[in-house]
Amino acid sequence: MGIQKRKVAIIGAGVSGMTAAIELMDSYVVHIYEATDTIGGRATTLEDKTSQETIDNGQHICIGAYKYFFYMLKKIDGMEHFHILEKYDIPYFYNATFSSLTSKIFSGKFGLLEAIIRDSNFSFKEKLNTIIFAIKVQMDSISFQNFADCYEMLVHHKQSEKVIKILWEPLIVSTMNTPVRKASPIIFENIMLEGFLSKSQNAAFYLPKVHFGELFKGFESVFLKEENKIYYNTSIKSITENGDKFLVNDEYYDDVVVTTPSFITKRILSELPIEIDVPDYSPIVSVYFWTDTKLTDSYMISAVDGGFDWLFNRDKLIDRNSDTYSYQITTSDAVRYAKLKDDVIMSMMEEDLRKMFGEDFKITHYRIVRELMATFLADKKNNLKRPKVKTYIPGLYLAGDYSDNGYPSTLEGAAKNGFRAAHYILKRTAK
Ligand SMILES: Cc1cc2nc3c(=O)[nH]c(=O)nc-3n(C[C@H](O)[C@H](O)[C@H](O)COP(=O)(O)OP(=O)(O)OC[C@H]3O[C@@H](n4cnc5c(N)ncnc54)[C@H](O)[C@@H]3O)c2cc1C
Repeated sequence: MGIQKRKVAIIGAGVSGMTAAIELMDSYVVHIYEATDTIGGRATTLEDKTSQETIDNGQHICIGAYKYFFYMLKKIDGMEHFHILEKYDIPYFYNATFSSLTSKIFSGKFGLLEAIIRDSNFSFKEKLNTIIFAIKVQMDSISFQNFADCYEMLVHHKQSEKVIKILWEPLIVSTMNTPVRKASPIIFENIMLEGFLSKSQNAAFYLPKVHFGELFKGFESVFLKEENKIYYNTSIKSITENGDKFLVNDEYYDDVVVTTPSFITKRILSELPIEIDVPDYSPIVSVYFWTDTKLTDSYMISAVDGGFDWLFNRDKLIDRNSDTYSYQITTSDAVRYAKLKDDVIMSMMEEDLRKMFGEDFKITHYRIVRELMATFLADKKNNLKRPKVKTYIPGLYLAGDYSDNGYPSTLEGAAKNGFRAAHYILKRTAK
């Protein structure tokens, strides 16, 4: 008789759940419970009926430092679907004109410094102070924990309002989905050291060429073998303990990995002796729109002066094969838009677009996607609330993007925690 494999339940088929499942699938019987009818979680696709196009719930940007997320994608054959931008070529709209953060010679940290030196909006003093600040971050000579937020830290290090607005605010708000005056300096430090001030490969932008449905397409065929299962449309209400096993949906498991957002995890684990401190969440609002005229040839534009953060050129990013033009606007930390009606949001966005591109284009269709609980708010207080992946209940692990890992809420943080949970389980069994 063969040895019976141990059983693991994974709650949630987002990036964290998929990463844990990939790591465990050969050694355990793995069952994934997913509340919806699809994988991906907060990285998901929707059908837009009017345009008959598949769109994501928001544009996601990755950087080369995404080790765990890319590791998972490699396992499911998803890695060929990226544009990789090593040098800086980021147009931005500031003071009613387009400028650009451009590095023609270098990439990585030297590319960032080159782009700062080339930028004609910065004075000599601003360039010097920014380079000194970047070197200090790189040399680990700043006590990030002493500052209440990124704004205080940047001003202390002589970053002018203009440099904050053009350079740091777009970077912080888009990576942390948190305003500069709240964002955690410690998380900022990690993003800089592991990403933008790291080696070239780590700092490169990775922009998906396909929607998430396509990116994650290989998961099921890799994962679904032997006794592994995905139970779709199965929302787990609670998990209980019975001896050294966990009861999930009337089945017993040796280990459980919970990857749901913290406010759901708190509910699911309410019958176990464990406290989940739910952080504040922050919305992202995305506007997809279609025009009769081409607006730009760039991949993305930072709207420094605008009411939104970034404009993405869908024609350049994905293969749409259409004679219309399509773009996407992303606004992080979008509290100001979250409760407005669609037509009000669109007319505010259109006003900004007209300032950038003039009157000679017509918006033929738009679709607004609100993610009200997109990510946790990455401020100092919430960062301290993050639980460890390994709980003090043997066999229970809290993965998902909010468990403590030094990153903001990201695909990489989600994958890293899924990977760590899987390796705690592998170690526990090896003992
Ligand atoms: C609009 C938007 C833009 C973003 N942009 C970026 C970006 O540019 N770069 C980046 O790195 N990150 C970005 N993120 C963040 C990134 O998408 C998330 O951090 C990541 O997808 C979280 O993955 P997760 O597996 O931790 O959680 P989730 O994706 O939330 O997965 C949890 C899963 O659990 C399921 N579930 C919930 N309740 C239950 C239940 N009771 N029982 C069973 N299953 C349940 C859910 O349906 C879901 O599938 C963005 C997020 C949004 C919303």
